Amino acid sequence: MSVKGVVDLHAHIASHIPFGFMLFGGDPECPACTKLTYRHGQQQVMNLELLKKSGVKIYVQATLVNSLGFTKSIAKKQVLQQLEYVENLAKRHAADFGVAHNPAEARDLIAQGKIAFIHAFEGAEFLIDTLEDARSWRDRGVAMIAPIHLGDNQYGDSAVMRGKLVVVNLIGQLKRTFWPSSRKGLSALGKVAIQNMFKAGIIVDTAHMSDLSFNQTLQEAKTAQLPIIMSHGYVREIRDEERGLTNEQIKGLYGLGGMIAVTGAVEMLHPHGPLKSPLPADHCRGTIDDYLLHIRHLEKLMGKNGVPIALGTDFNGFVPHSRPKYGPKGYLPESALKEAPLAFDVQGLAGPHLLPSMFEYLKRQSIGVDAFEQSAERFLQIWEKVLAYERS
Ligand SMILES: [Zn+2]
Repeated sequence: MSVKGVVDLHAHIASHIPFGFMLFGGDPECPACTKLTYRHGQQQVMNLELLKKSGVKIYVQATLVNSLGFTKSIAKKQVLQQLEYVENLAKRHAADFGVAHNPAEARDLIAQGKIAFIHAFEGAEFLIDTLEDARSWRDRGVAMIAPIHLGDNQYGDSAVMRGKLVVVNLIGQLKRTFWPSSRKGLSALGKVAIQNMFKAGIIVDTAHMSDLSFNQTLQEAKTAQLPIIMSHGYVREIRDEERGLTNEQIKGLYGLGGMIAVTGAVEMLHPHGPLKSPLPADHCRGTIDDYLLHIRHLEKLMGKNGVPIALGTDFNGFVPHSRPKYGPKGYLPESALKEAPLAFDVQGLAGPHLLPSMFEYLKRQSIGVDAFEQSAERFLQIWEKVLAYERS
């Protein structure tokens, strides 16, 4: 049966394990902080009690390796610990949650009214060197892997951002400035890793890839005729830097039946310079206004509700989310609202529990909410297609 509802393609349920020193407030089983605000970058927000209120059907949980994961065995140990944690967490709360190791299990959990957790990796240093590696992750239920994360790695080049976020991939920036010919996109190992992921039935997540890495991955996907995903990205015409997707890249990705999520890390969404059509006078920086610039662009390019659009919240990814537009923490007084204030209007995206209020806000702004409602089904179809390729 077809699923109607939203997938969050990028949230970290277990980031307190490798990055406990950066994330405060305990683990997802702890009671949620009663004073959560949108500036919760270092605060636990994936509390199960909040997830239950989120209305999201599927959380694709991005497993991370920290900077000490500098050998294959350490990296492997770190991800296994997180996979196991999420498995046990779901077992302890089986009335509301479950881990789906394949699309049929996800459909089953959702039909029972439960939230499905699905395993993914963000950054895969040492983890997908061989077909056997990829198959072993598939066998553990890992649906999707982003081979490249913040910095260039053995699989290829990572995107360089502009402004203060350039520090995220400083080596990439230095190479781009002083030795541009060294930036070659995917490495030979990276190309093989992508092919191995297809062969193993794992979805490729293009998040964080440099322009060339992305284009080469798209080419591999075209050759295999398989969909790929951008789990938390944005639009280059709005924010002109390498991590932003060009119109051609967006069309290419959707042309293969893939899907895009605009990142919930709203600090990465504000335009660097003037746009073709100037921002409205009441545009509020760092709020949902920045997010909607990218969503509206996707709607313009692909049609309103023309393609599914996923969430890619990056909750527990050490980033703040949308600041409220109204109230003491916002830009405008509550009295400026024409309708009764939504929680989202005055709190912004302080946590997953405010996603239903955010969608209410989108409806009020005539954003095609159907595009989001189609996203869980599209994700499962992508997973099914990639697994079917593996079997063929
Ligand atoms: Zn990321």
